Amino acid sequence: MSVDLLRQLPGVDTWLASSHGLALVAEYSHVEVAAVMRAHLARIREDLRSGRQTAVPPLESDEYAALLRAELLARRADTLVGVVNATGIVIHTNLGRAPLADEAVAALAAVAGHYSTLEYDTESGRRGSRGKHVESLLCELTGAEAALVVNNCAAGVLLALTALAGSGEVVVSRGELIEIGGSFRMPDVIAASGARMVEVGTTNRTSLADYANAIGADTRVLLTSHPSNYRVVGFTARPSPQDLASLAHERGVAFVHDLGSGALVDPSFAGLDPEPTVSDCLRQGADIVTFSGDKMLGGPQCGLVLGRVDLVEKLRRHSFARAARIDKLSLAALVATLKLYRPPSDPWQSVPVLRMLGAPVDEIGRRAAALAAAIARCDGFEARVTEDVGYAGGGALPMSALQTLSVEVTHARLGAADLARSLRTFTRPIVARIARDRVVLDPRTVLPGQESEIVEACRSIR
Ligand SMILES: *Cc1c(COP(=O)(O)O)cnc(C)c1O
Repeated sequence: MSVDLLRQLPGVDTWLASSHGLALVAEYSHVEVAAVMRAHLARIREDLRSGRQTAVPPLESDEYAALLRAELLARRADTLVGVVNATGIVIHTNLGRAPLADEAVAALAAVAGHYSTLEYDTESGRRGSRGKHVESLLCELTGAEAALVVNNCAAGVLLALTALAGSGEVVVSRGELIEIGGSFRMPDVIAASGARMVEVGTTNRTSLADYANAIGADTRVLLTSHPSNYRVVGFTARPSPQDLASLAHERGVAFVHDLGSGALVDPSFAGLDPEPTVSDCLRQGADIVTFSGDKMLGGPQCGLVLGRVDLVEKLRRHSFARAARIDKLSLAALVATLKLYRPPSDPWQSVPVLRMLGAPVDEIGRRAAALAAAIARCDGFEARVTEDVGYAGGGALPMSALQTLSVEVTHARLGAADLARSLRTFTRPIVARIARDRVVLDPRTVLPGQESEIVEACRSIR
């Protein structure tokens, strides 16, 4: 019986050649239509075998063609789209880390649709350098001797180790063999560079003598990394960066510090946990400092490598630098973001990430109250303002819980998981947190003007 039914199913090619099939191929590509048909045939075959279906559906009907057409349209929906971040996590890696300032977006757009002076000197009419647009600005802002920009911090670390250590040794503390989400694991990065890792100290305590004893004739780099997303607390010890710098320089090895989040301004200014800035690290003696452009800096994805001019030049000349170079769109956005750190601009106001991190609680409270009132007016909704904590996220300030005021939302017919899902699948997805079995919206990370989108989404939920 089922074998007979299976025989009645057409092959993909036969279905494609039918009048409905040809009509669909006129609207969508052969590849797309064939993929949708193949999935349908597989499902029907499975249903017939298992007895879930006892007849072959009318594949060559207008109704069935309409079904396929709807699926073909849905398949073409964009998957990379803007979202409203209501999680309160400012540097949310899964949501694209730092949203750019308007100035950076404009600079990016200006370069995107035009030819540009990317590597062109208008004065001489000759080839110019990609780096000149940004390197002196970075040195001006951080006090670095030299700068190099690559496509992300991971590439910066890999380039620094590859160019400076070669097949020699990299000495690193067991307490700093970090993993940043998304497969950046320090031991693997060192291995990928071709250098040999020499671990010193213990998980919680490493002394200057541990480093000193490990440095030998093959040692090229002394590597430290910032505990971006964890803390070792309790019975701990690590030498000061100044002592490490003196040791490295006495023994003729390079001191590389992977800073990761890389703040240009002191976070404690906004009441956040103090954290060494890029300038601090350089002043304390690091020869090379690496950090991300899209974390605390608040710019586009890129990796910044700052430090001693002779070492930066070595990196620049390495063939891997070409493979990791920054693209023109990110470069334009980076320059525009960095300019926001120059007076009279106040980066705590003009760089979105810093503005959100430094937002006063009473301001967040006012926004939360207005949002709660508007949501409470939507059919089936209840909303109230509640004390809550947010996080910097993105490998920055892991212990810094940000005191905040959030909007706790409940719906008469939907549980927290279903309500969160409805918000996530709105035209522009709204990403919330679930806490205490409630949907929680933190206005800190909701960009200006996006509150109305949240209210519109709530109004559409029945
Ligand atoms: C985030 C981070 C990295 C990786 O930076 P990407 O820009 O994502 O490549 C490396 N090291 C540290 C310490 C970090 O915090």
